Amino acid sequence: MSTFLVFVATSDGKIKRSSLEVLSHARSQAEKRGMLLAAAVVDTDATRYSDEIQSYGAKTIYAISNPVFKTHLNASLIQALSTIIETAKPSIFACASTEATKDVLGALGASFNAAVLPDVASFELTDNGVSALRPVMAAKVLSQNTATGDLILISVRSGSYDSAKSPVTAEVKNIGFQPSDFAAVLREILTSAGEKVDLSEAQVVVAAGRGVKDEVGRKLIEDLSEVLGAAIGASRAVVETGLFPATAQIGQTGKVVSPQLYFAIGISGAVQHTAGMANSKVIVAINKDADAPIFQMATYGLVGDLFKILPLLTEELRKLK
Ligand SMILES: Cc1cc2nc3c(=O)[nH]c(=O)nc-3n(C[C@H](O)[C@H](O)[C@H](O)COP(=O)(O)OP(=O)(O)OC[C@H]3O[C@@H](n4cnc5c(N)ncnc54)[C@H](O)[C@@H]3O)c2cc1C
Repeated sequence: MSTFLVFVATSDGKIKRSSLEVLSHARSQAEKRGMLLAAAVVDTDATRYSDEIQSYGAKTIYAISNPVFKTHLNASLIQALSTIIETAKPSIFACASTEATKDVLGALGASFNAAVLPDVASFELTDNGVSALRPVMAAKVLSQNTATGDLILISVRSGSYDSAKSPVTAEVKNIGFQPSDFAAVLREILTSAGEKVDLSEAQVVVAAGRGVKDEVGRKLIEDLSEVLGAAIGASRAVVETGLFPATAQIGQTGKVVSPQLYFAIGISGAVQHTAGMANSKVIVAINKDADAPIFQMATYGLVGDLFKILPLLTEELRKLK
């Protein structure tokens, strides 16, 4: 029986939502093709995630525990996943598409001489490989791709699938791991996003654009996000002013988000921005220009001055809570 292996990423003691989405879709695909669904988990204490992983249907869990995984490092993750792939010998390997897996997937592809389908919006297994849709050209175009080969690696955009439980009892295999002496060593993290809510995983995102202008505007964004328990995002234009950190940038050269609810506030809707948020379920746009392109994709649009709208909106939402 061939194996479909899913890398289940963890952060701060929790499994990432995007990984559970991939695992859920992989389960339905593996069932259709009579494949074994397995999961790879790599953490300081990887086995503590076994119960949750098996509740999503993985029948074998390959776990590597090591203190080196306290912080993300490409080199150690590549080494760990290579070890698991050599052990599990999957024909398909899938993971969520995140900054953390971008380089990792490429390196695994090169070392295993595998076919790679990065950052797909959907995929399905075919008789001789994988067929996938990939957003390209800043997500303006969807390209249909197919891959064949003994090993196919896929990374999947978050929000592409719903996660759904399907409990089984899994066999947990602890894999021995001795990290190599890597050429690059992480000495110190000088800055961190300090996000209250992880932007890539957030269910609600309040995103600011150039229209937010100044610290008064930033405070209005912070107030709204606090009431909603939302993560704060930003367009590149407002990041470049220094008002929001680069880690908040959403778009082609920033993060890809897929929340249930996305507020685009003072954002025009340039294609490089929408590339990072088009998967949002409900989009609320606030912009004083009725012709701003963001309104073409918004579920709800408010035309007006954000400095007038936001205090009222936040106050009403606070009352509702
Ligand atoms: C290679 C490349 C990569 C890029 N990558 C990214 C990326 O990852 N992410 C990204 O965001 N951009 C990216 N950009 C930049 C992108 O092209 C746009 O310039 C940027 O998204 C615009 O940001 P904005 O909508 O905040 O600003 P603007 O386009 O200037 O829009 C500001 C909006 O605010 C509105 N506004 C102003 N004042 C108010 C007010 N008081 N009340 C309500 N509305 C108001 C205006 O009507 C306007 O629509 C990239 C560009 C390039 C060339």
